Amino acid sequence: MNLLISNVQRFSLHDGPGIRTTVFFMGCPLRCPWCCNPENLTKEIKKYKDINGEEKVYGKEYTIDELEQLILKDFDYYSDNGGVTYSGGEPLLQLKEGKELLVRMKERGISQCIETSLSVPIELLEPIVDYIDIFYVDLKIMDEKKYEEKLKRAFIYFKNNLDFLHSKNKKICFRVPIVDNFTNNEENLKKVKEYILKYSNEKATVFSVHNMGKIKYQNLNIPYKEFSPIPKEQIEKIEKYLNE
Ligand code: SF4
Repeated sequence: MNLLISNVQRFSLHDGPGIRTTVFFMGCPLRCPWCCNPENLTKEIKKYKDINGEEKVYGKEYTIDELEQLILKDFDYYSDNGGVTYSGGEPLLQLKEGKELLVRMKERGISQCIETSLSVPIELLEPIVDYIDIFYVDLKIMDEKKYEEKLKRAFIYFKNNLDFLHSKNKKICFRVPIVDNFTNNEENLKKVKEYILKYSNEKATVFSVHNMGKIKYQNLNIPYKEFSPIPKEQIEKIEKYLNE
């Protein structure tokens, strides 16, 4: 069983508690207009030429053994709360098939977190749910129709999976991307707040859209649309409102 991965980032400090190794899975069911990881949208290796004209690729197949060895390289740094974080793209698209990796990590007592949109059939979530310690879930566009129209996916997957995690008492930490004309309006943020209150006991993290993915769009020859970053003071104000 091989997994298609775009990057394995060691010593991550922002993808969960402690020091972590973050594994970026390829393939995503959503199409967020502000996505900064276009290389992860589809589950395929993508060739490109860098600015020096050198041939490069996004994506590499790993066996479970290879990924396990990579994650174990920093075992001594994980301490009590560090470990591995599965990110993407959407890791749930591949983790059911790669469950053996989760089993091995659990056997070694390594903490496992996931960054997910939850926008997948529940059959992909159920088999792996007991192996994950923290679910980091984005709250983006909360109106069902607008979610479907802008993100190109039915809302029901997200909602069903969130209810399922809640029924299992799983630890859910929400993340809220702030993007003008998409998520940054009073009505949407009010709904975001309702979800936080209903589904999580943890502080939600709020962050601004950014343009750091632009170079990847250029490399892949995909048209890019600039987004206006949201000022820090406004992010802090929204974070305060959502968590009070
Ligand atoms: S869920 Fe993440 S990876 Fe998928 S399109 Fe949205 S921002 Fe990009």
